[in-house]
Amino acid sequence: MSVTGLPPYDDANVFARILRGEIPCKRVHEDAHALAFHDINPQAPVHVLVIPKGRYVSVADFSAHASEAEVAGFWRVVAKVAKDLGLEAGGYRVLTNMGADGGQEVPHFHVHIFGGRRIGRMVPKAD
Ligand code: 5GP
Repeated sequence: MSVTGLPPYDDANVFARILRGEIPCKRVHEDAHALAFHDINPQAPVHVLVIPKGRYVSVADFSAHASEAEVAGFWRVVAKVAKDLGLEAGGYRVLTNMGADGGQEVPHFHVHIFGGRRIGRMVPKAD
């Protein structure tokens, strides 16, 4: 743990490798602040991930340490991607997992965009 209580950023995580071009992705959008790409294991007809370009572990890290421009740029991309994918009329879900209880698997901050059908229960029963 760092002094902030958050784990240090791991440059070997899979999204860092995607950002470096070491692993391919099905890219939806990219700009100075964010990259959006299709999830490798989609849980809905549309399942896209949006990640900041910066080295942030989680929403907690991003919120505490990203610049105003990074935060604004990132969230604008989330809504733009959903709109560009045709999800705005029918609606969609934006979700981020944080830490162990949140079920976060990849330690680079990301949000999931789910759409293309009724997404269902907001919080499923625990495993
Ligand atoms: P988390 O549980 O951390 O919120 O979600 C991580 C997501 O990353 C999962 O939905 C998983 O399917 C996705 N994922 C893991 N590895 C890869 C990969 O190499 N490529 C892509 N496109 N998605 C990945």
